[in-house]
Amino acid sequence: MIGLQLQREELESQPRTTSYEVIVLGGGPGGLTAGLYASRAGLRTLLLEKQVPGGQVATTDLIENYPCCPEGISGSELMARITAQARRFGLQTENAAVQGLTIDGDVRVVHTDRGDFQARAVIIATGAHPAMIGVPGEEKFRSRGVSYCATCDGPFYRDRTVAVVGGGDSAVQEALFLARFAAKVVIIHRRETLRATAVLQERAFANPKIEFLWNRTVAAIEGGDAVERLILQDTRTGVESALAVDGVFVYVGQRPNTGFLRGVVALDPQGYILTDEEMRTNVPGILAAGDVRRKTLRQMVTATGDGAVAAHSADLYLAG
Ligand code: NAP
Repeated sequence: MIGLQLQREELESQPRTTSYEVIVLGGGPGGLTAGLYASRAGLRTLLLEKQVPGGQVATTDLIENYPCCPEGISGSELMARITAQARRFGLQTENAAVQGLTIDGDVRVVHTDRGDFQARAVIIATGAHPAMIGVPGEEKFRSRGVSYCATCDGPFYRDRTVAVVGGGDSAVQEALFLARFAAKVVIIHRRETLRATAVLQERAFANPKIEFLWNRTVAAIEGGDAVERLILQDTRTGVESALAVDGVFVYVGQRPNTGFLRGVVALDPQGYILTDEEMRTNVPGILAAGDVRRKTLRQMVTATGDGAVAAHSADLYLAG
């Protein structure tokens, strides 16, 4: 498998400049594809990523709906391949956390924890992060039984009992992953029908280790040094009950990583970036791609498609 970790020596041996034709913000599927297309189009392109390229999908155990791999492929391997492919066309990559974006005439200035970078076109592909349920104990027990990443933390729960909160694709897919290790996985959902796609539902219903608690929300997470129990509330009666668990995995949706963009480009009320079909925001030369955009289908394949379109639009904008 191609390693995900960028070699710092390799980065430092690259020619350094702070001025580019295109800067891509974020190294998930949308950003990397935008970087690949922009570099391959001959544009001097920099991708900024606060961690290592890969994005949220790199923490997914198995991707089986991306059209490439009949047997499915791990998120980390697929993203490592796309990273290598983009770099082959000359994409430069920096580890930097983006803090702001300002417009100075034709120049877009990206402010980061490692200095400012300038470009005429910017593609925002900063993705989203897991939503919290916002109940007592969630923050206190984070990393001590509360997790937002089954791929990262699931193996610690071998032969234990864990809960998964949520009823979407993420909750059900990750419950199936957790069932490989845990003795029991309890999916807690606030309604009595799942939002997840049918094939995932069928697998979860057929898995003897997975149980469902319908019409329940988590009111509190309790324990001593680590999580010991959840306090659940029945959404129909309001009655509370306790459920003993060793860990709880929260999958109640996503929030866009756009806090640094307020007042710069138009956002919807949830903070997702508004674009047209060509991935153009309301500001010329600023494009967006992937989960950070308002859209109906947030998938790897739609993010990569967005990235290609955004790079093409950046190219047209620069040709001017
Ligand atoms: P999602 O589709 O928005 O589902 C969030 C789930 O959490 C819903 O079931 C929702 O309940 C529940 N929920 C929301 N707030 C809650 C709260 N405060 N307390 C309890 N439950 C709460 O989010 P997601 O599953 O993270 O998926 C995000 C996007 O990624 C989706 O477009 C999804 O299709 C995509 N995705 C795809 C795959 C795949 O293709 N294999 C895998 C993962 C994610 P309600 O149903 O009642 O609203």
